[in-house]
Parts: sequence; structure tokens; C-alpha cells
Amino acid sequence: MTNEQLIFLFSPYLKADEKILGDFKAYAAELLEWNKKTNITAITGEYEIFKNHFLDSLSVLPLINPKGNLLDVGTGGGFPGLVLKIVCPELKVTVMDSVAKKVVFLDHIIDTLKLDSVDSKWGRAEEFGRDPAFREQYDVVTARAVATMPVLAEFCIPFVKVGGVFIAQKGRDEKEIKKAEKVIDILGGKLEEIRKVKLPGDDEDRNIAVIRKIRNTTQEYPRKPGIPEKRPIKTK
Ligand code: SAM
Repeated sequence: MTNEQLIFLFSPYLKADEKILGDFKAYAAELLEWNKKTNITAITGEYEIFKNHFLDSLSVLPLINPKGNLLDVGTGGGFPGLVLKIVCPELKVTVMDSVAKKVVFLDHIIDTLKLDSVDSKWGRAEEFGRDPAFREQYDVVTARAVATMPVLAEFCIPFVKVGGVFIAQKGRDEKEIKKAEKVIDILGGKLEEIRKVKLPGDDEDRNIAVIRKIRNTTQEYPRKPGIPEKRPIKTK
């Protein structure tokens, strides 16, 4: 894609300069190259990477403090965590995933783009969420396309500081978010907003759940790895 096309694509969220455009082009090229031998993402076209990964990740930009610290749970190829770092140089970012080869790719991107104040962690959210070095340490926690809302809430809310925010990019199903309100409450959160975004060419809105942490999460959560998926928190 040309710089003009990219500037237009990103214009709802930022005024992209040469450095930012260069970083995104290099990131897309590495993703396409690595994807030939390792399955980092199901998306394999250049335009689709710019739209469905980069632009979709940028849709949470208006909701974050660009000078705070952010944890991206189940980041995969770095979405949205590394994308937000590219456009917010002062943001401190931790990207976490349970698949080792994805973390090797993330480290390669962090090195290639010379991103500072970025840390990568290999492991499960349920384990890191019990570790005092991570628990209730973040201003912002993000997750895109990782798990159903009750499971995701148990993975992510324990990491958020009281007063901070958990931002879940939840795709097209708004009902799934609303149905999880009680679970969010049990974990110490409050559903503040469901923001709608539409990507170019899409008919349907995508939903972003904005969840404020209003109380500490009780020590019961998160439960052991695998349990949140096997037995999502019940509310009845
Ligand atoms: N967020 C990325 C995106 O939007 O492209 C990746 C989405 S991918 C469908 C889900 C990712 O979550 C996978 O990379 C998977 O390894 C990771 N994941 C799933 N369960 C996890 C857990 N319990 N702890 C950490 N990562 C997890």
C-alpha cells in the first residue's frame, strides 16, 4: 500500500508520520514472511493485515492513557499491544501469550522496530494473574479475540489496578458482553460502555467492552489454568 492510502486508512485515529508508516510496513512484511513457516495469524494479505490487525487494534486508542502501562493478554502476533506501542512511544507495554513461537515472533518485532519499554511474557494469564508482580499492576489491560466474555473477564480483570480499565475487543456479539455483567461484577469490575466501531468495507459494527475496575479481585480468581474455560464463573 502507498503512504497516502495508509495515511487515509489510519486517519480516524492518528496522523501517521514517516516513522510510524515505516514501522507498520516493516511489521506487515515480517508478519507475512514469518507466516509462511509459522502460523502467527490466519490473515495473510497485506491490505487485510493493515485493516483487520493494525486499524482494528487502533480502534482502542481513544480509550487508553498513552502514558500509562498496558498489558495485552493473548496478544498473538501483537494485537492490539504492539500496534498501540508503535503509535504511543511513552506507553509501557507488556505483551503476553501462552504459545512460545508467537512470543519469539513478538521479540523479533520488538528488536526489528527497536521498541523500548516493551516486555514480552510467555505463559498463561491464569498463572501470571496470581503473581504479585503482575496482579493489579496495570492501568490498562487489553484483549482481542481471546476467549468468551466470562472466561476473558477472569483472565484479565485480576491484572487491572483499581481505577484502571479492561478493554475487550469482542467482535460482533454485543449480547455476550451484556450477559457477562454479573461475572464482571464478581471479579471487581463494572461494565462502563460498549463502544461500536466499524472498519472500512464492513457492514456490521464491532463491539469494544470498556470495563472499569472498581474493587480488588478476591484471591479466589483467577482459578487454575484451564478451569475458567472448563467451568466459567456461574451467576445463578
Ligand atoms: N489478540 C490476537 C489477535 O487479535 O490477533 C491473537 C488472537 S488469537 C485468536 C488468541 C490468542 O490468545 C492465541 O495467541 C493464544 O495463544 C492466546 N491465549 C489463549 N488462551 C490464553 C491464556 N490462557 N493465556 C495467555 N494467552 C492465551
